[in-house]
Amino acid sequence: MAKVLVFAEQRENKLKSYALEAVSAGRAIADASGGEVIACLVGNGVKGLAEGLGKYGAQKVLVADDGRLSAYSPSAYATVMTAAIESENPDVVFFSASAMGRDVAPLTAIKAGTSVVADIVAAEWQGDYLEIKRPVYAGKAFLKVAVNSKPAMATLRPNVFPAEEKSGDGTVVELSFNLSDDDLKVKVTDTQMKSGGRPELTEAGIIVSGGRGMGGPENYPVIEALADTLGAAVGASRAAVDAGWRPHSDQVGQTGKTVSPNLYIACGISGAIQHLAGMSSSKYIVAVNKDPEAPIFKVADYGIVGDLFEVVPELDKAAKQLLEK
Ligand SMILES: Cc1cc2nc3c(=O)[nH]c(=O)nc-3n(C[C@H](O)[C@H](O)[C@H](O)COP(=O)(O)OP(=O)(O)OC[C@H]3O[C@@H](n4cnc5c(N)ncnc54)[C@H](O)[C@@H]3O)c2cc1C
Repeated sequence: MAKVLVFAEQRENKLKSYALEAVSAGRAIADASGGEVIACLVGNGVKGLAEGLGKYGAQKVLVADDGRLSAYSPSAYATVMTAAIESENPDVVFFSASAMGRDVAPLTAIKAGTSVVADIVAAEWQGDYLEIKRPVYAGKAFLKVAVNSKPAMATLRPNVFPAEEKSGDGTVVELSFNLSDDDLKVKVTDTQMKSGGRPELTEAGIIVSGGRGMGGPENYPVIEALADTLGAAVGASRAAVDAGWRPHSDQVGQTGKTVSPNLYIACGISGAIQHLAGMSSSKYIVAVNKDPEAPIFKVADYGIVGDLFEVVPELDKAAKQLLEK
């Protein structure tokens, strides 16, 4: 019987899609073992989000609603999660492998005296330990790990675990916790939102990425047009980022972001192992490259050999026609 605690990430008082995925993953483990899944909401004015977590299977929602938690503070959030662990004594603790989750999970692990397995893509309760699967060697192989620490803590790769609606409401419980001055040493003084209405890379269901084959920053509107037609995010290879064509926040790969969209369209990207490390778990990969020998075609589900400046506008036209129907 596994008791699973899930850090339910929110930003600007909106639940992240991967928070629901993590709750559903927790629920799957709880259901298989006759256990329970408890979500923990941390922030200011976040109580209203508890209902949404109940819909995705949280049987209990711990709420840490406090003005001091309105902006993300790594130490404060980790202290709250540690209080949740102390109060619930879970067997398993899940975070998302998002920027926030990757930050707060190891801090919580230190405070709770356990360890954390990063970026998992599967998890199963084996009676008295958690068995997880995570990619290694830039996605070329998978490692199965038996996590014996208590609680077993892991970050879940976004867009891998399905978010599944369940019937039922989660019981809302206010979590008591104490924050010290040290917890609040790091203060967010300003937040600058990225302009443009495109989805965030790690959350996007569709990504259109451009590499060195784009030829320069002035050509990105070609893939941006397709991205906007599809409601997609725009990504880039490191070559494009290093050339200063795109910001580092757009970089996909080993030293950039790990993404797992339903559809990844790689334009003018050769498919270096370091790039594949960040996108090979995408459900469908489409590659547009003028070199038929480009390694990206080895991982692509659909490959188009051609000049991206001819192919991508055609894809855009076809997508628009389909969407109009
Ligand atoms: C430690 C380390 C970490 C790294 N981390 C990352 C990372 O996080 N992400 C990452 O992406 N890379 C990373 N790299 C770099 C990686 O090794 C590659 O150099 C990089 O991914 C290449 O980017 P690219 O595919 O855009 O460029 P290239 O390899 O130069 O490929 C460009 C492709 O565009 C095609 N092309 C050119 N013109 C056109 C056209 N008009 N139409 C269609 N196709 C065209 C070419 O045929 C070619 O295949 C890392 C490297 C190291 C050593």
